[in-house]
Amino acid sequence: MSQEILVIGGGAAGFFTAINIKEKHPSYKVTILEKTSNTLSKVKVSGGGRCNVTNARTEPGALIKYYPRGSKRLYKPFERFSTANMRQWLEKRGVQTKSEDDQRVFPITNDSQTIINCFENEINRLGILINHQCAVKKIEKKKRWHVYTDHQEFKSDQIVYATGASPSSWKILSELGLEITNIVPSLFTFNIDDPRIKDLPGTVFPNAKVRISGTKMQEEGPVLITHWGLSGPAILKLSALGAHLLAKKKYAFLIQLNLSQQSAESLAKIFDELKASSPKKKLKNHKIDGIPNRYWEHLLNMLNGSEILWGQMNKRLQNQLIEQLTQATFSVTGKSPFKEEFVTAGGVDLKEINFNTMETIRFPGLFLAGEVLDIDALTGGFNFQACWTEGWIISESI
Ligand SMILES: Cc1cc2nc3c(=O)[nH]c(=O)nc-3n(C[C@H](O)[C@H](O)[C@H](O)COP(=O)(O)OP(=O)(O)OC[C@H]3O[C@@H](n4cnc5c(N)ncnc54)[C@H](O)[C@@H]3O)c2cc1C
Repeated sequence: MSQEILVIGGGAAGFFTAINIKEKHPSYKVTILEKTSNTLSKVKVSGGGRCNVTNARTEPGALIKYYPRGSKRLYKPFERFSTANMRQWLEKRGVQTKSEDDQRVFPITNDSQTIINCFENEINRLGILINHQCAVKKIEKKKRWHVYTDHQEFKSDQIVYATGASPSSWKILSELGLEITNIVPSLFTFNIDDPRIKDLPGTVFPNAKVRISGTKMQEEGPVLITHWGLSGPAILKLSALGAHLLAKKKYAFLIQLNLSQQSAESLAKIFDELKASSPKKKLKNHKIDGIPNRYWEHLLNMLNGSEILWGQMNKRLQNQLIEQLTQATFSVTGKSPFKEEFVTAGGVDLKEINFNTMETIRFPGLFLAGEVLDIDALTGGFNFQACWTEGWIISESI
C-alpha cells in the first residue's frame, strides 16, 4: 500500500516540502490541504513583487547571525541544505538567480511569478494533489493522524504542518499539547511625528547609529526617512532584535540617533576648522559628511542658522547642531509594516522539535516547517531560506 502524506498549508514551506517528498518518494501520495483558494500568496507579494528567494551568504556560521530567533538550532540544518543548495535546486529547474550588492538573491526575471511558476510546474509534473478551501480545524493522533476540516476527515501516518503565522493554527497545535511561545510582529518601521523629519521622506542617512534609550540595543546602517517616521536596514534590524521588548513597551519608546558618523568631539573639531578656514561662507553652503544636504538645510532652518556664516556661528548654535547630528532623541509612538517583507516572532517552541528531522519530539509523525515555528529572520531572503531548509530536511526524514 502506498504511503499517504498530508501537507497542511499551501505556502512557501508547504509547497517546497511536498515537492521534495514526492520527488524522493514517487510512490507516495502527497496531498496539500490549503485553507484559501490561493496558494503561494506570500511568495507572490514577497520582496516587493520580486521575491527575495534566498541570500548569497552560504556559510552556516554567517547565515545564523541573521536569525534573532532560531539561530543556534539552524546551524546543522544549514550544513545539510544551504542557500547555495537552494539556488542549485532552482537552477536545475530552469530558474536562474542573481545576487545584488547587499547579497539578496532574486530570480533573474525580477518577478516572484517565476518562483511560483517553477513550484506549480513541479506540483503538476509530480502529480501532487491540492485541496483548496480546505481549512484544517483539528488534528488528532490515534493509530494514525486524523486531520479534520469542516467537510472531511483525512487520515495519514505522517503529516507536515506548514500553516505559517496563523493564530487559529497555533491554537490547533496548542490544543494538541505543543507549547507555543508569545507571538508578536517583527520587521516593522518606527512611527515618529516630529518636525525634524517631516516633509523629508526619501532622505537617507547612509551610515547612522540608532540606540533604543534605556536598553543596550543599538544598530548601525542606513536609515531612511519615510512619510510616517523612520525605516531602513538599521531600524528594521532593531525591530527584529527587539520584537518582544518593543511589544512590551507597546511600541512607545525613545531612540537616539547619531546621523553624522562622527562623535560629538570630532564634529566640534570639524566645525572649529570650518570656522577658521571658511569664515565668510554660509553654514548651508558647506556639506557635512554623511548628512544629506536636504536634511542639513532643514536643520539649519529649524535652528535659524541658514543665513549664518561659519565665522559668525556662536557656541549655542554650534552645540545645538552637534547634538542634533550626533545624539538626536526621537519619540517613537507606534509601528508600521515594512512593505517588502514582514514576519512574526514566536510560534511553536523550538524545544518541541528534533532539528535532525523537523519532527515534533512528543508527537511522532508530525513534522513542522516555516513560520509556524518560533524562527524568524532579518530581511534578506533568510525567512524563505528557513522554509527551504526545513522542508528539505523533512523530505529526507519522512
Ligand atoms: C509582504 C511580505 C513580503 C515578504 N517578502 C519576503 C522576501 O522577499 N524574502 C523572504 O525570505 N521572506 C519574505 N517574507 C516572509 C515570508 O513570506 C514568510 O517567511 C514565508 O512565506 C513563510 O512561509 P510559510 O509557508 O511558513 O507560511 P505562508 O507562506 O504564510 O503559508 C501558509 C499557508 O498555510 C495556509 N493555512 C493557514 N492555516 C491553515 C489551515 N488551518 N488549514 C490549511 N491551510 C492553512 C495559509 O492560507 C497559507 O497559504 C515576506 C512576508 C511578507 C508578509
